[in-house]
Amino acid sequence: MGLSIIVPCYNEQETLPFFMDAIDRISSQPQLAEKDLEILFVDDGSTDHTLGFLKKLAGTDRRVRYISFSRNFGKEAALYAGLQRARGDLVAVMDVDLQDPPSLLPDMCKAVEAEGYDVAAARRVDRKGEPWLRSVFARSFYRIINKMTDVEMMDGARDFRVMSRSYVDALLGLREYNRFSKGLFSWVGFRTKWFSYENTERVAGHTKWSFWSLFRYSIEGIVAFTTAPLVISSCVGLLLCLLAFIAVVIIVVRKLLFGDPVDGWASLASLITFLGGCQMLFLGIIGQYMAKMYLEVKGRPVYIVAEESAERTGRTVSEGRDGSKDGDLLKAQDVSGGRGLPRVQDISEDRDIPKEQGALKDRVHPKV
Ligand code: UDP
Ligand code: MG
Repeated sequence: MGLSIIVPCYNEQETLPFFMDAIDRISSQPQLAEKDLEILFVDDGSTDHTLGFLKKLAGTDRRVRYISFSRNFGKEAALYAGLQRARGDLVAVMDVDLQDPPSLLPDMCKAVEAEGYDVAAARRVDRKGEPWLRSVFARSFYRIINKMTDVEMMDGARDFRVMSRSYVDALLGLREYNRFSKGLFSWVGFRTKWFSYENTERVAGHTKWSFWSLFRYSIEGIVAFTTAPLVISSCVGLLLCLLAFIAVVIIVVRKLLFGDPVDGWASLASLITFLGGCQMLFLGIIGQYMAKMYLEVKGRPVYIVAEESAERTGRTVSEGRDGSKDGDLLKAQDVSGGRGLPRVQDISEDRDIPKEQGALKDRVHPKV
């Protein structure tokens, strides 16, 4: 059975060697050893040496394929491109920074292969190491979106998952431009087995998500999966109309019965400001939906590929990346040397990269 691992990469030159080491270690385990493994890297318009590294890797390791985008299109686009190209009967999605523990892969594959699940998905049970404000907002986001939508989005769920072919085909059937994967994963349904794990920090490099980009992403999620904000706007609008009507009746009655003039301008000014604010807010909400429609209607591609690795030639996976047979690979516990894994230094030599960026070769590989 074939297993494709899709790995989105954006400026990940520091993390890639660690990732390949971890994959090598895990791929020798019984659940994965007999699988036809394909590692499909999606270079999301990196500006560092990620692409150079991937090219070298694909040249020496026939399990590796890569696609490179013409610019940074975002992780969602990278996932979509990977899903479109993955050939395995099982398809996994993993981040390259080892925050998605590769050690879970064998059990996740087993759940889909042997236990009748269509998806094995991972969720972190804590948010250790994450900034406090980010955690608070993330938790609130899940509370709000789960109240507003029919599909359930699990707090802490990662994109890390192993999927069956039919699940992947169902995902690919959703052709929208605004792709909010966490929602799409839930929307297509199927039987999911959850694997919990404790949060781990990035092995190297730094996160590509700022607080602001996460905030925008969460708004996109809400707009993509629910029209509840539009319903709320309409309800508030109705309520305000009702209040205004009551106020008019009171004012007219007071004037007719008691001859009272209308009270001062301050209350009037606050009312106008309040109502103006509400109108702008609701126009903004409608605008969000219109903007998404505008993008959908334009029908632009989700991503543009600048280059892609050559097709794999017929060869069994039991060969290692240096052409060694699987027995050799299984024995190769020491991942540090002589296996054709390109070092950043090699790439620097080819591509005229400043020397300080080649310092990765001195890095001590951590236990994964
Ligand atoms: N990523 C990507 N395109 C982007 C941002 C991120 O392909 O525009 C990839 C990144 O290389 C990594 C994964 O998405 O493999 C998760 O990114 P990151 O670790 O920055 O996110 P976090 O784990 O902090 O949510
Ligand atoms: Mg990460």
